[in-house]
Amino acid sequence: MFSKIFLIATCTALYVSVAVARERAVEFPDAKDGSVVLAADLHTHSVFSDGEVWPSIRVKEAHLDGLEVLAVTEHLEHQPHKADIPHPDRNRSYEIAEGVRADSEFDLMIINGAEVTRDMPYGHINAIFLNDANALLTEEPKQAMEAARAQGAFVFLNHPNWLPHVSDGIARLSDYHKDLIAEGLLQGIEVVNGTLDGHSEHALQIALDNNLTVMGTSDIHGLVDWTHDAGTGGHRPMTLVLASDRSEAAFKRALFEGRTVAWSYDDLLGREEHVKAVVDACLTLEAEPALRDYTVISAKIVNACPVNFTLLNQGEETFQNTGDVLNVKRDGETAVAVRTKTGKGQMVLTVDVLNAQIGFRKALTTRLVTVIPTQ
Ligand SMILES: [Zn+2]
Ligand SMILES: [Zn+2]
Repeated sequence: MFSKIFLIATCTALYVSVAVARERAVEFPDAKDGSVVLAADLHTHSVFSDGEVWPSIRVKEAHLDGLEVLAVTEHLEHQPHKADIPHPDRNRSYEIAEGVRADSEFDLMIINGAEVTRDMPYGHINAIFLNDANALLTEEPKQAMEAARAQGAFVFLNHPNWLPHVSDGIARLSDYHKDLIAEGLLQGIEVVNGTLDGHSEHALQIALDNNLTVMGTSDIHGLVDWTHDAGTGGHRPMTLVLASDRSEAAFKRALFEGRTVAWSYDDLLGREEHVKAVVDACLTLEAEPALRDYTVISAKIVNACPVNFTLLNQGEETFQNTGDVLNVKRDGETAVAVRTKTGKGQMVLTVDVLNAQIGFRKALTTRLVTVIPTQ
């Protein structure tokens, strides 16, 4: 009797955990040019720097969240737990995480990285795809960047709008950062950082003006569930990377080429072509045949992504059933009765995507197109 009850309890627990994982894991359809959209969090901490969890939790959270890439980026110079967890080797956190991933056979890429943590004007800078993080423990911060380049690392500026570093919350590049960019030692900038709980339209414009890759990261220190309501409709901030395939080489190439979109809450931020590629993969327009000789056509906007969209109609066509603001729920659909000219042929809706930013306070405009079927 005991074993039967135990078995039922175990099965129930397994069933619940799988169901939660399905609801929680993010998934984006491929872009229309065939690029895959890889969900990545490239800035995370564990107890090996100032985080609150063992690296195994980072790996399991990433798996539950449906991430395809996780970077382990402990502070190199800031180790508040070292009296309890002495670890002179700065690669140790990555090694544990990668071991957990290998044992669990998760379909997840783990990347070794580090957060070079200096006072302003240098600030905090992440280097990922490292072979040996210890080599970045240098006297001068620029030597750390050179050591990163010697390992083929991708380097990005962290939280440039962090209030302890910039009291007005406005991201700016210091002369030091400009020098790193000029020398090819800095390739990206965070426009979204979860620890700040916010994003920076100034950093987005800096990225566009300086040809830097747009990054969104969690910079998670505690639990993703508690910080970002993961599993109950929330998600950690992350970078969506438009890669040619799911290999590490293609992922790394896409980062260096700047083929990214930062995602925070329902905001998508990046270069127009990349944000448009993600949005156009998410949203499709479907129309029904005309009824009688009516020229008002029933249609729906279908959303295949875990992002809630807010659209503002900018076209000539107006709607019989709603005003110009359309909300399309994540993985949902919104019905529109479109007043067309003829009730036949192509239907085009021109919309501003208010939650998709392609520059300083500038929303993406896109077109949803379909052909009205004949009876
Ligand atoms: Zn930092
Ligand atoms: Zn950090």
